[in-house]
Amino acid sequence: MSIMNGKKGLIMGVANERSIAWGVAKTLADNGAELAFSYQNEGFKKRLLPLMNSIKSDKFFECDVSKTTSDFNSIENMFIRLSKIWREIDFVVHALAYSDKEELKGKYINCSRENFLNSLDISAFSFTRIAKSSLPLMSLKGGSLLTLSYLGAERTTPNYNVMGVAKSALEASIKYLAMDLGKNNIRVNVLSAGPVKTLAGAAISGARHVFRYSENVAPLKFNPQLKEVGSAALYLTSELSSGVTGNIHHVDGGLHSVAIPKHEDLV
Ligand code: NAD
Repeated sequence: MSIMNGKKGLIMGVANERSIAWGVAKTLADNGAELAFSYQNEGFKKRLLPLMNSIKSDKFFECDVSKTTSDFNSIENMFIRLSKIWREIDFVVHALAYSDKEELKGKYINCSRENFLNSLDISAFSFTRIAKSSLPLMSLKGGSLLTLSYLGAERTTPNYNVMGVAKSALEASIKYLAMDLGKNNIRVNVLSAGPVKTLAGAAISGARHVFRYSENVAPLKFNPQLKEVGSAALYLTSELSSGVTGNIHHVDGGLHSVAIPKHEDLV
């Protein structure tokens, strides 16, 4: 029997087959999970549907997390629509983020107020809204909420700027949410992935240099990709991690453990 047999969950953030959300979805589906998906708008829906078909999933919802409660495609309305199809769910995977590309280069000090608020709203606060709106649907046995972060939340990385600040807020949020939801046996965790070649990853100026540097410096000498991130997400969304909450789980080849790289790695 597969570990996710009988488990149902929502995957948010598939843009294409290179998305981290897709890597997670594929692994969970391969292990028996039944999945529903959300997509940001019509443009993303076209790319999502064939992927969903490939894992025999047919439940999808438009949801732009920047929309307010009263909009049809808001987070709150999506969970109401989902509740008409499924009586309960076991997990939600939040794999989405946004910041103005123009501010993912240069200095953080030049961040505009508008982009600061927008980046924090979409990339961090959306997860808190999801935790609240999914609560009535979460299985009485408990469940798992999982989001994605990056080392730029903990330390500076070139050009990550306001996204690093947003990820720090996201990482702090999961600890408060873990405390709030622990009594419901809902676990809340962050998977901090190393650099992955995706649309969002490419929006950060100089991403390919960071990719190469991380590969050189990480103890495992490679940047974990969808397969490794998917396996770790399987652990964090399943009973395998039944004692784990409020945790930042690094899937970065060990990069986060390195302070000063060896001299030969610097070239
Ligand atoms: P991606 O471009 O494949 O996915 C980003 C998703 O965010 C897209 O599906 C997009 O539709 C969604 N999104 C953006 N704004 C939205 C909104 N307003 N409403 C709803 N959805 C919205 O990129 P990815 O790299 O797979 O990103 C997934 C997550 O992983 C993000 O949180 C990202 O910060 C994180 N992450 C990425 C890397 C990396 O190197 N790629 C590393 C660590 C963490």
